[in-house]
Amino acid sequence: MDAHIPVTKSISLNQYGIQHTNIHYQLSSKELHQLTIEKDMGKEASSGALAVNTGEFTGRSPMDRFIVKDNITTDKVWWGKINIPFENDRFDQLYDKVIAYLNEKELFVRDCYACADEDYKLNIRVINEYPWSNMFAYNMFLRPTEEELKNFDPEWTVINAPGFMADAEVDGTRQHNFAILNFSRKIALIGGTGYTGEIKKGIFSALNFILPVNKNTLPMHCSANVGEAGDTALFFGLSGTGKTTLSTDPDRKLIGDDEHGWTAGNTVFNFEGGCYAKVIDLSQENEPEIYGAIKQGAILENVIMDKNGVVDFSDTSITQNTRVSYPIYHIDNIQQPSIGKNVKNIFFLTADAFGVLPPISKLTPAQAAYHFISGYTAKVAGTEAGVVEPQPSFSACFGAPFMPLHPAKYAEMLSKKMQESGVDVWLINTGWTGGPYGVGTRMKLKYTRAMISAALSGALGLYSYDNYHIHSVFGVAQPRECPGVPTTVLSPRTTWNNDEAYYKTAFKLTNAFRENFKKFESYASEEIRRGGPQRYAF
Ligand code: ATP
Ligand code: MN
Repeated sequence: MDAHIPVTKSISLNQYGIQHTNIHYQLSSKELHQLTIEKDMGKEASSGALAVNTGEFTGRSPMDRFIVKDNITTDKVWWGKINIPFENDRFDQLYDKVIAYLNEKELFVRDCYACADEDYKLNIRVINEYPWSNMFAYNMFLRPTEEELKNFDPEWTVINAPGFMADAEVDGTRQHNFAILNFSRKIALIGGTGYTGEIKKGIFSALNFILPVNKNTLPMHCSANVGEAGDTALFFGLSGTGKTTLSTDPDRKLIGDDEHGWTAGNTVFNFEGGCYAKVIDLSQENEPEIYGAIKQGAILENVIMDKNGVVDFSDTSITQNTRVSYPIYHIDNIQQPSIGKNVKNIFFLTADAFGVLPPISKLTPAQAAYHFISGYTAKVAGTEAGVVEPQPSFSACFGAPFMPLHPAKYAEMLSKKMQESGVDVWLINTGWTGGPYGVGTRMKLKYTRAMISAALSGALGLYSYDNYHIHSVFGVAQPRECPGVPTTVLSPRTTWNNDEAYYKTAFKLTNAFRENFKKFESYASEEIRRGGPQRYAF
């Protein structure tokens, strides 16, 4: 490829206050890959993928995410530690500073959109300081046709300046990095961090406000796929619980791996055009589809490679959160466009590091509402020797950091949709079995996949005493048998081989559930409150 890539298409950024002309508009993925390497900002892996380091930040920074408090947001946003208010004037000041900074830089601009359903399309312009961040935007957002680009009218703008450092005192930020949403100006302003996830989650957060407020559509932090019979399945879950892994299923068409909307017309559409998979301990054997997607066009983040460009997926020396982004067409079996109808099953994924939740259980509508509002998963303690006590982690709607409205709003919408569509809702523990983290082991992916297949095919049978056992602590219905899974694995208590320790730990978790749910009690009906665990420690 030519060393100096000509700017083939031009664009003016005057409307943003950007005057200079060193702007690369709509470069191809290959051009951006090449430029990143020429600028010594990345390397090519042996698979052909681009490998970059995102810098100081290798994950999102939730404490530095702000929303401008203005006419649109003041009365609607659920303000607090998750949705931190930012002053209008302060935003305008900081915006001007970022623009002045970018005026000195070579820029990478991309027009793209979110929402695969034509009726919900949100046109986005992404302005990046770095070529690889712009390639990320190519991978993750939906890609307009040449025709659509001719009269492209951007509605939202993402301004991404990883090299710009804020002065917290002057700029009103917490520290040098920030991600700020401004609904009046329709801007996501990101600075001081190169973590690409901020770009996609910025637009996700905007949609999580816009869709329920203006379009009567439920935005969801979930993955989705569709079976041969046209039945759609949704997989909700916090980071690392398996949304990407489990939705990428050779037997079902992938709709999307992270963000979807459920419309009033009962269809589900992907917000994005790509996937963003964790690659820690990735193996070709366990996850051949994702492994195969790591080729030219994909961007690996914060992985370690040898001198031949061979990635060591077990190396966590930069971060545990190693990632790859790729356009969805890197996966063979995909639904095009990314829209599903007929939602039949919903899976709530949780990585229970206490190892006490059943690996699969069926939820009543009240239990489903309770668990959706709770949004439980667990964090495992650091990998250092010594303390290995897991920490419960609750995040309402399985995605609180991205939800500008009160969780009750999303929960109400979901309950209504579940009722209307008569879905089956399942709680899947992709976490520990045979004991807590440190004692037991992570549930085998093979088993989780078999359980999900069984739920989808109806092999777990009707909700009856013969087929299900009601868990004495959690109240959920645990299948007695599941094809492809040893029966002992289905009962967490049995896998522990120590009833006393099992119940003690289970009560630790139910107490945490109860403590967390207190702040939502006034929003939940008596029925939903009874959807929680049945027994607690006193
Ligand atoms: P994010 O919201 O951050 O994208 P995610 O929900 O998509 O997170 P995944 O990327 O699917 O999470 O991560 C799940 C991780 O757990 C993968 O690395 C996967 O290999 C691993 N894993 C191990 N055992 C299981 C299991 N039984 N089920 C699902 N995932 C498992
Ligand atoms: Mn994911």
